[in-house]
Amino acid sequence: MTTLADPVPGGRPGEVERATALSGELAGRGVHGVVLAYVDTAGVGRVKTVPVARLASAVAWGVGMSPVFDTFLANDSVVTTDVLGSPDGDLRLYPDLDRLVVLAGQPGWAWAPVDRVTQDGERHPGCTRTFLRRIVTEAAERHGLTFRAAVEVEWTMARGDAPGDTFVPATTGPAYGAVRQVELGDCTAELLRACAAQGIDVEQVHPEYAPGQFEISVGALDPVAAADRSVLVRQTVRAVALRHGFRVSFAPAVVGQGVGNGGHVHLSAWRDGVNLHSGGEGRYGMTADAESFTAGILAHLPALTAVTAPSPASHLRLRPSQWAGVFTAWGHETRETALRVVTGTAGQRDRAANLEIKPVDLAANPYLAIGSLIAAGLDGLTSRAALPGETTGDPARPAAAGTAQAAEARGVRRLPVTLEQAVEEFRADGVLRAALGPVLADAVIAVRRGELASVAGLDDEQVAAAYRWVY
Ligand code: GLU
Ligand code: MG
Repeated sequence: MTTLADPVPGGRPGEVERATALSGELAGRGVHGVVLAYVDTAGVGRVKTVPVARLASAVAWGVGMSPVFDTFLANDSVVTTDVLGSPDGDLRLYPDLDRLVVLAGQPGWAWAPVDRVTQDGERHPGCTRTFLRRIVTEAAERHGLTFRAAVEVEWTMARGDAPGDTFVPATTGPAYGAVRQVELGDCTAELLRACAAQGIDVEQVHPEYAPGQFEISVGALDPVAAADRSVLVRQTVRAVALRHGFRVSFAPAVVGQGVGNGGHVHLSAWRDGVNLHSGGEGRYGMTADAESFTAGILAHLPALTAVTAPSPASHLRLRPSQWAGVFTAWGHETRETALRVVTGTAGQRDRAANLEIKPVDLAANPYLAIGSLIAAGLDGLTSRAALPGETTGDPARPAAAGTAQAAEARGVRRLPVTLEQAVEEFRADGVLRAALGPVLADAVIAVRRGELASVAGLDDEQVAAAYRWVY
């Protein structure tokens, strides 16, 4: 479990002693530096690193980094809100020792996610990891709920020797094909070894649909740990691939057309150790709370996409009939609805049942995405929202999904087709904005608008190229 206690100047009780012992142990294992990792509002992973001997100082006093990254764009230019984007001020990065791992794919390095705290020792309202801890804490206090989450990571393996920033797939062979598994077998075996060494329980690795595409799925954890893990998985995939001469892209769309890279989120709500998505009186074993939680996410999905699919490139991926889930609909094991109710197989449903949210990609900040999804679900749960009827088949083909009128009666509609529309939905969603708080909500709006301005006039291929290598 992730500690829900905020970092404090001087260190949480016992932490400095723990860090001192740990840094000696790490040095003995050949570690020289610790990567302090977080994800900015635009979804870009940002880091500072410290020598291993500075770990105790880092947990006591943090490591300086400007708050300006809250309004950085993916191209490293800066936008502003009324309180963010100024060159003034400083924040302190506090590593979470519970999540520190020695990086198997990067000899000499350890890694830890950070919370960002003001110089006065206060929570930084723009810190997305702190935001997710707050959402999880409030859910426990107000509703007696805990959650389990996992992020599926899809990525594209490209040849490292391709000229410039062009994309040449690192594999041949068809989707899910044995050819690809053999061609990249050395690299993916090393990835499995690195994940195991880092305590990541991998469920599957497989060649995916699009050229050069692969996917890794990992076990579920508490929400903060799951978000941390998704960042670590990407760091590991990239590092291992690079050692094999490959370049990696987690961008939602590596090229202008075709299937993109998703970052589907699996989420389940639990009370007193019982999974609310199983063993209930509702559809497919959902309890009334799980149905309302699902209804809440469904109702907020158009606005949520500003958080879960935040890049102009996200909208190249969010197209019908590409398994990205672009309709506000749910279905049982349906790959084309935004929400897939996963019941698991007989014998393990009490543990395995969950909700899969598909219109999420890896340009999304995972802390913001998971926290916003939980906030939306809790809104449904609190208001006892009714879950509309299920959808079967592909909603893009009404003949399969029932008549167009029947789909409309169930509230099935296309998610925003542009980032601009998504931002307008987000702006109009008081529940989500209140959950994020004004500083983060304004940062989301300003950064999305900044991204839109930065791609004005570009065609799909140029948009894909602009974001191909940043995530
Ligand atoms: N690549 C698809 C996406 O963009 C998902 C494929 C799958 O269901 O695994 O979401
Ligand atoms: Mg997949």
